[in-house]
Amino acid sequence: MSTFKCIGILTSGGDAPGMNAAIRAVTRSAIYNGMKVKGIYRGYKGLITGEIEEFKTQNVSNIIQRGGTILKTARCLEFKTPEGRKQAFETLQKEEIDALVTIGGDGTLTGARIFAQEFNYPIVGLPGTIDNDLFGTDVTIGYDTALNTIMECVDKIRDTASSHDRLFFIEVMGRDAGFLALNGAIASGAEAAIIPEISKEQDQLSDMIEFGLRTSKNSSIVLVAESEVTQGAIGVAERVKKEYPNFDVRVTILGHLQRGGSPSAQDRIMATRMGVAAIDALLEDQRNVMIGIQNEQIVYVPFSKAIRNEKPINRDLLNILHISSI
Ligand code: ADP
Repeated sequence: MSTFKCIGILTSGGDAPGMNAAIRAVTRSAIYNGMKVKGIYRGYKGLITGEIEEFKTQNVSNIIQRGGTILKTARCLEFKTPEGRKQAFETLQKEEIDALVTIGGDGTLTGARIFAQEFNYPIVGLPGTIDNDLFGTDVTIGYDTALNTIMECVDKIRDTASSHDRLFFIEVMGRDAGFLALNGAIASGAEAAIIPEISKEQDQLSDMIEFGLRTSKNSSIVLVAESEVTQGAIGVAERVKKEYPNFDVRVTILGHLQRGGSPSAQDRIMATRMGVAAIDALLEDQRNVMIGIQNEQIVYVPFSKAIRNEKPINRDLLNILHISSI
């Protein structure tokens, strides 16, 4: 059994709906198992500035339904330096925090891995990002809510798109991953998705125009994943204007609204399962692992694996999108 008396919890990097549900589950599970919990504000920054507060069960009441993160989040450049991390370690010692649970994306886990190695310090990570781009877990906290938000937005855009003869390019987030664009396109009945995983291999735009867009349709919607590889919705639209001037093109960038909103049931349940699993992992003396879900089962994924490997996109889905949009 673990000897941890007090654990710290923080959210870092981009916020994602469901982070609060995870904070709640980690806090309550730690208290249930006889540990103290300290909330660290603004990600790794709070470890440097000492913005830390003890959390009782009531500190996490009434938050499961709220988007964002009550612990706030920040990008912290100091944590990328050895001096900054040393300061963070000193804060943890002063606060008598013996283990950390960090919730965030790729950058957050990278920072956690470096820190854990440098100070031989136990950390368990939770995958919190709308992009779903972490290897070793089928889904990440926030992804399902963002996908639903995208679907609702595209439904609205379709209402106006179908009143005119137009080709709409809608840019969605993803940070170099096409999960939101591809599944968002399937869910909203869009005609195509331009995603970095495929765009680096073939010219998706010309393929789409030549084979994909049926002339009998009077409007088309294409989801474009934000990425240098895809050039985003603006880049794609500019190309169309030049190369296929007969199309009436419009661009919508969904932007930050994709991060907001009350988390879906799936995100709340998954964040709660993962939060409880984070404490279980510490009790089992696991360290330097990310909690993942594979085939409905909780798994422990070493940080090195979660960070280094590129999560593959299911290419069957492209064909499904193609077939279902003819
Ligand atoms: P996300 O976790 O959503 O991917 P970021 O990439 O912004 O977001 O990372 C969040 C924070 O994690 C950074 O602001 C920084 O404090 C820390 N971090 C990221 N990369 C490193 C690194 N190489 N070394 C140390 N800390 C890092």
